Amino acid sequence: MSGHTHIIGAGLAGLSAALHLLERGQAVTVHEGSGQAGGRCRSYEDARLGRVIDNGNHLVLSGNISVRRYLALAGVPDALCEAPEAKFPFADVETRERWSVHMNDGALPWWPLVKDRRPKGVSLGAMLGAGAILRAGDSHTIADLCGAEGPAKTRFWEPMSLAVMNLPPEKASAKLMRATALEAWRNGRLARPMFAPYGLGPALIDPALAKLEEAGSPVRFGSLLRKVEEEEGRATALHFARGEPVSLGAEDDVILAIPAHRLADIFPESAPPVETSSILNAHFLVNDPSVLEGKPPLVGVVGGLTQWIFLKGDIVSLTVSAADHVEGAEGAEEALLSKLWSETRKALDLPETLAYKAGRLVREKRATFLQTPENVKKRPKQETRLRNLVLAGDFVDTGLPATIEGAVRSGERAARILSE
Ligand SMILES: Cc1cc2nc3c(=O)[nH]c(=O)nc-3n(C[C@H](O)[C@H](O)[C@H](O)COP(=O)(O)OP(=O)(O)OC[C@H]3O[C@@H](n4cnc5c(N)ncnc54)[C@H](O)[C@@H]3O)c2cc1C
Repeated sequence: MSGHTHIIGAGLAGLSAALHLLERGQAVTVHEGSGQAGGRCRSYEDARLGRVIDNGNHLVLSGNISVRRYLALAGVPDALCEAPEAKFPFADVETRERWSVHMNDGALPWWPLVKDRRPKGVSLGAMLGAGAILRAGDSHTIADLCGAEGPAKTRFWEPMSLAVMNLPPEKASAKLMRATALEAWRNGRLARPMFAPYGLGPALIDPALAKLEEAGSPVRFGSLLRKVEEEEGRATALHFARGEPVSLGAEDDVILAIPAHRLADIFPESAPPVETSSILNAHFLVNDPSVLEGKPPLVGVVGGLTQWIFLKGDIVSLTVSAADHVEGAEGAEEALLSKLWSETRKALDLPETLAYKAGRLVREKRATFLQTPENVKKRPKQETRLRNLVLAGDFVDTGLPATIEGAVRSGERAARILSE
């Protein structure tokens, strides 16, 4: 490969492909349709809160090796702060019980044997049954293998499934969950949460943009791809919403790193899974951040709508996954904010009377593709019929769930495919 690679989409998949190609000495141009990079993983100034917030809270784990390689290539290997251990505090906002899921470091996962390290009320037998995920086949949901009743469901499988798959265990593909179990959850050393202390943009996006600038290839914003022209099994030109088409030379390549619904329009033969699952985030600005002192930066929640609470300075951010059924982003916003704040007070053990200064709901309708066994079978391969065009994105067939790690891995692979 000695020509120029045009990468369409400056989300994590596109940026990852760009950094890996730059490392190989390849010339790249990244075309981004919007005015901002990061796609579904971005930070922005919110006028109501008067703070820079992330579109959604993102949990990355220490075993996410592609994310680590990406950060190293971006020149910021320590941009994410790793928690000292894989310990996840939980609160049940209905019963007010508390516990921690505390995984041990090392190849032998003995933590389920210790009562205080597993979810409250979950028996040893139920935890050992979790090993059934290793038998996952193409058509299994998580609930098919791991049971759909009792505390093991509500306090272990449901939070895990919603966090990783953005779907409840009854719908989520067991095969993708197994992939995460094998890459991260099997060893506490690999399952430590990693936080972006100043937000997703500064940690994951801005350093990659700076690397591209440094290489003399800044991202072209407002460059919305409309059509790929082809001839004799090769992509020959790219047509954008504005400006002249870009002709592709005999050595030039293309990586389409755009979301599935956009790909379905531009390159329909890839037939990607276009059903989606939403995520709702609520961000609260508190009057007095000292009330949050000593609280853990991440708390899992059961018994309510909320699944995770992240603390960042004077901002408390909540995640509600698989949120298609949750009303309130339009119209009833205040009522929903008030319900979520009440869950926050209970989960963090804050005074009943404590009010928030300002709140914001952010709903990402197409947060991930709907990761059911049926849709997982539809994930397209990265290679296409066109010899110089490959796909990237969290929905392509990486074998991983639609996550940051999956998106970054797809970009890494796209670069490798074109280089081989
Ligand atoms: C609220 C929320 C919470 C999440 N939480 C987590 C989490 O905790 N952990 C985790 O690992 N993952 C999480 N994810 C998933 C993660 O954000 C995504 O998997 C990842 O960001 C997808 O990256 P991508 O590059 O594949 O796609 P995108 O981020 O969608 O990037 C695609 C880019 O292509 C651009 N584009 C689209 N069409 C065109 C076109 N025609 N021409 C040019 N450009 C175009 C878009 O503007 C966009 O910038 C979450 C997602 C959301 C929304």
